[in-house]
Amino acid sequence: MTTVALKDVTKVFADGTVAVDKINLDVNDGEFMVLLGPSGCGKSTVLRMVAGLEDPSSGAVLLDGELANDVQPRDRKIAMVFQDFALYPHMTVGENIAFPLRLAGVDPSPRDERVADVASALGIGDVLGRRPSQLSGGQRQRVAMGRAIVRRPGLFLMDEPLSNLDSGLRAELRAEISSLTRELGVTTIYVTHDQAEALTMADRVAIMRKGVLQDVGTPTQVYGRPATLYVAAFLGSPRMNLLEASVYVHLDRYVALRIGEQSLYLPWTDIRSRAVAHYHGERIVVGMRAEALTPVAPDAPGDVLRGRIRYLEHHGHESLAFLDIGATAIVVDEMGSRPEDADGGQRGRRRLGQVMQRLTGRGAAPG
Ligand code: ATP
Repeated sequence: MTTVALKDVTKVFADGTVAVDKINLDVNDGEFMVLLGPSGCGKSTVLRMVAGLEDPSSGAVLLDGELANDVQPRDRKIAMVFQDFALYPHMTVGENIAFPLRLAGVDPSPRDERVADVASALGIGDVLGRRPSQLSGGQRQRVAMGRAIVRRPGLFLMDEPLSNLDSGLRAELRAEISSLTRELGVTTIYVTHDQAEALTMADRVAIMRKGVLQDVGTPTQVYGRPATLYVAAFLGSPRMNLLEASVYVHLDRYVALRIGEQSLYLPWTDIRSRAVAHYHGERIVVGMRAEALTPVAPDAPGDVLRGRIRYLEHHGHESLAFLDIGATAIVVDEMGSRPEDADGGQRGRRRLGQVMQRLTGRGAAPG
């Protein structure tokens, strides 16, 4: 069993760069945690501090509840896979995978058995005699993984392990890594800047920006109820619509959201109306995902936002309509107009996306 806890961990490099700023994060036993964020946000530095390759400037790294700041990397029961694979070119696949076992003094017979098991789990049992130069990129990455897991580490750290592969292979290996780590029950921290990777693989995602942790939660939580405006704008494609609105509470019967020249009305029975009611008279940011918006005919009655279509974008499985609604542009998923989506009362409620935040609220501005 392995758990990881970061307590107020900060890393300031010698040149004054604050790469990681007071991060607190718990990774549970057997959990697949993804660190997600744009290039330079400090993901790799967090991973390297967990591995012991970098010392925190302040704060504590705990492994299985024990302070690990001064524990040498080799004593941390950790395996790490990087994007450049780093295989030994003069060794065969079998020798590469067996290498950590040889270092640990495991006898040849159990060693070969373990290598064969791992290779077969990774679908590379038939290339054990080849050298890395005779492998495809995907096979090389599987060998790197094999070498990392062969000692059955308590903790598996992966830093963008798929970024050098083409997109088809990435999707395939993504699924393999997920199922393999879960089968082994090994705690995993996986670094990526690719949100599709993060949302499909993770038990929980930790989103970073400029060294600061923005949000931690299951993919559904961070996508549906992002903690900050940054996360709201960062996750999802197309980006979430974020519109400024003024809030007016009408005698506890409904809440009006004034967006430009138009208004949307939330009945008091809609729990979101109470979430925003205490901002009466103030300006907030309303988040609406394209897939939560349903296009209707121009003369449709009721609670609608009216806009002029600027252009349509067809993506095969979906079509996006980009609209001007006065001062602001929004994007609507046209698939929402399918007749089977007409779900009565739900539709009106869905129309207003999931996120409402005070303009001056927690988190930084999107972008
Ligand atoms: P990427 O996805 O590009 O690898 P990242 O999110 O993993 O980025 P880090 O590699 O952790 O980011 O870097 C975080 C910040 O720390 C960056 O501004 C980087 O330039 C800086 N940094 C990293 N290593 C050092 C170092 N040894 N000395 C000074 N600054 C560093």
